[in-house]
Amino acid sequence: MNYINRIPFLWKSFAPILLVLLIAISCSQQTERQEASHFKTRGLVLDVNDLSTVDWPRRAKEAGLTTLATHITPSQVSEFIQSERGQQFLEECKTYGIEVEHELHSMGDLLPRNLFEEDSTMFRMNEEGKRVADYNLCVHSEKAVKIVCDNAVKYAKILTPTTGRYFYWIDDAVPMCQCPECSPYSDSEQALLLENAIVNALRKEVDPKAMLAHLAYVNTLEPPVKVKPAAGIFLEFAPIYRRWDKSLLDTGATGWNAQQTITHGEHLRLLDENLKVFPAETAQVLEYWLDVSLFSGWKKPAVALPWHNQVFQEDIDVYAKRGIKHITSFGVYIDDQFIENFPDLTFLKEYGKGLENYQPAQ
Ligand SMILES: [Zn+2]
Repeated sequence: MNYINRIPFLWKSFAPILLVLLIAISCSQQTERQEASHFKTRGLVLDVNDLSTVDWPRRAKEAGLTTLATHITPSQVSEFIQSERGQQFLEECKTYGIEVEHELHSMGDLLPRNLFEEDSTMFRMNEEGKRVADYNLCVHSEKAVKIVCDNAVKYAKILTPTTGRYFYWIDDAVPMCQCPECSPYSDSEQALLLENAIVNALRKEVDPKAMLAHLAYVNTLEPPVKVKPAAGIFLEFAPIYRRWDKSLLDTGATGWNAQQTITHGEHLRLLDENLKVFPAETAQVLEYWLDVSLFSGWKKPAVALPWHNQVFQEDIDVYAKRGIKHITSFGVYIDDQFIENFPDLTFLKEYGKGLENYQPAQ
């Protein structure tokens, strides 16, 4: 048999090996690309209805995202995660290599309101000096903090993030305690006192490497001064009062809310001040570029997303230049109905791939 006659034989023998090699090279290039991406977290925060009605893990993977986070409260998300659909969601995330986190407004669940009858001093004092069970808690009540920590540990066992990063936020944009012990502390400082206790409990009871977010948002945008973050606390910066048709580089721009005239420049000052207290390396930005619920005024029917890719590109450069490597955005209301009404999801691809392929601007 001469060499020419042996070519088909050689091809048959080596073709499978060649194929495996090609696949291996392509996978390693993909992994390198992922590892090379500046942004370690490229996320989207969705509510349980969005997650129940859309195959988000597949779509997230295709868009180049790393992480999906659930929302809004621990009790609501626990019910979803323990359901058949919730378990399926976790399985699909595993299949597609998508990390899972839970970004939760928590105090209503972590300090059950019916405990007010038992001991009202666990609850916040309002501006008129009355204890009230409406929101949050008194962070100087040891009993209240202990109950919150115990419940945070309890929920952590049901809502375990795959990243070790926990998010038990205070209630949504509502006041903290005005009692004589709490009032010398700002809302940011009261939140951080509580977060320090929670992260210590999580590290002791659940995961020695647990991390917990300090949410800088609305009444907690000012950085804490009198209280220092415990090991494991990371900054989460959520600039809800900005606008999204102008980039953060437009420092004079004010937001959509006429009562909140805070400019983009002021937002950046607050971010920079917070980054003097919390490490940039672990800090996360929680943005609203894809937050259909916000643009719909938190009322359905949902409107089309006003997506500004150029603004988004400039914004992520602003964040990246401050050393921020974790970026996520609300995407609430992007459910089956939304996709039926607005099937062009180019914005999702531009968001995910924009983060994945980000290169610093000159
Ligand atoms: Zn208090």
